[in-house]
Amino acid sequence: MADKNSIPVFRKPLYDLVGCRFGRWVVIAPHRIEGVHHTKWVCLCDCGTFKTVYGSSLKGGKHKSRSCGCLVLDTRAAKKLANPANVNGKPSKTYYIWRGAKSRCLSPSSSGYKYYGGKGIGISDSWMTYANFLADMGEAPAGLSLDRVDAKGDYCVENCRWADNHTQSRNKTNNLWIDTPDGKMISVDAAKNMALVILHL
Ligand SMILES: [Zn+2]
Repeated sequence: MADKNSIPVFRKPLYDLVGCRFGRWVVIAPHRIEGVHHTKWVCLCDCGTFKTVYGSSLKGGKHKSRSCGCLVLDTRAAKKLANPANVNGKPSKTYYIWRGAKSRCLSPSSSGYKYYGGKGIGISDSWMTYANFLADMGEAPAGLSLDRVDAKGDYCVENCRWADNHTQSRNKTNNLWIDTPDGKMISVDAAKNMALVILHL
């Protein structure tokens, strides 16, 4: 049994982590502090950063450490790149179009809800998942937006296409159709037609 009055001697570490790898850390040396057990270790991260890390953090537990912080950043960046909603790590135009359509149909707080969900226009079950919408429609071509062929129908693959504003505006439920000498057309086109006739008189 140890004598309580004897001079304390330096205690050898209970474990030696030098050379061990924990995630991106490789332990280089114990970090000795005067009067304190060397519970910290000098570690080198794969990215080239040196830091001292608690042995308990290396070995696991609540504050587990697996890198200088670069691992979390790289994982986050990789997830962003892998997310189908993102293009170059940022939410794509197509994603915002899908989110807008979904909220017009399903969210009474959406400004457009009264013209869509409020009038019984829905979105297909499959399109509740963005990846399915993207697989059906592809990325939105430049200058085009999501148009429903039947303006009274739902947002679903059978009823949707990418269309320019000209096509979309002619496909609205509230368009006024007029019989003209040049055939049946919506009021906007009839007015334009009339203006052209006047110009050429
Ligand atoms: Zn690092």
